[in-house]
Amino acid sequence: MSLHLEKLSFTYQLGTPFERTALSGLNLFINDGEFVGITGESGSGKSTLLEILSGLLFPFSGKLRLDTEIINSGRRKSLERLRQKVGLVFQFPEEQIFEKQVYDEIAFGPRNLGLSHSEVDERVREAMASMGLGFENYRLRRCHILSSGEKRRLAIAAILAMKPQVLLLDEPAVGLDYEGRQALLQCLSYLNREKRISIIMVSHHYQQLLASCPRIILLDKGQLILDAASSSWLEYLDFLMQKGWKLTASQELVYRLMQKGWEFSSSPRSPEETARAVVDFIRRSRPGRG
Ligand code: ADP
Ligand code: MG
Repeated sequence: MSLHLEKLSFTYQLGTPFERTALSGLNLFINDGEFVGITGESGSGKSTLLEILSGLLFPFSGKLRLDTEIINSGRRKSLERLRQKVGLVFQFPEEQIFEKQVYDEIAFGPRNLGLSHSEVDERVREAMASMGLGFENYRLRRCHILSSGEKRRLAIAAILAMKPQVLLLDEPAVGLDYEGRQALLQCLSYLNREKRISIIMVSHHYQQLLASCPRIILLDKGQLILDAASSSWLEYLDFLMQKGWKLTASQELVYRLMQKGWEFSSSPRSPEETARAVVDFIRRSRPGRG
């Protein structure tokens, strides 16, 4: 299932003194099975974009297509189809956990769909397994005593039980400790790789996205200013610096070497190969000392 935005713009509180354009002229095609990261500074429009993609926010100008079907507020059926296929995980989703036990929290959505007991059970088991919550170990646990990372994975499992084909996540790793973050990101990779669920993940922490997402999109003041493979992200350091982005120490090193004439190859390299290439370059540029 693909999602396609064409010249999409969205303005909050249109026609009032508080009018605020959150997205303007966005063109974006997200293919079936992709794992895409969206980044940008606070206020750049990331959450608005997720809410539009999930069918929560409208009307907007421009077009949103689900495969070839155009979605708009005048076509209730198309909007319903979009909402069935796309699951949105809000920021801090654990704040919306309201059942006492893990099993009931995940079963809530499927039960509301009127599914049979065995279908509900199957969905709960599958969602728990995907989010690394062992069924026997967790099903009867009280939600409020889980760790923050476990609560977050539980909240995502509850959305997975609705069987979305696309999962949208707003800052899913924010506020978690290192282990919690790693466990969550591993589950997302598993969902994408093994369950073929498309994932669109927002994070203001683009280094985290570089590690997880093959494709990264950068928003700036409501506009899409970069859409690049994460393996070629280093080629855009110059551009990012101009945009005032803060680089990590290793990115800054690469940036400075590139300014001195180092050619960064876009072919994927291991950290060891990159280190060797850097040392070679320094030797070559200091003749007589190598
Ligand atoms: P991000 O998630 O990147 O921080 P948002 O999508 O939340 O950005 O916001 C984009 C812009 O829209 C910001 O300028 C924000 O102030 C504005 N905005 C967001 N929600 C509302 C709202 N409900 N009413 C008015 N303006 C809003
Ligand atoms: Mg946001």
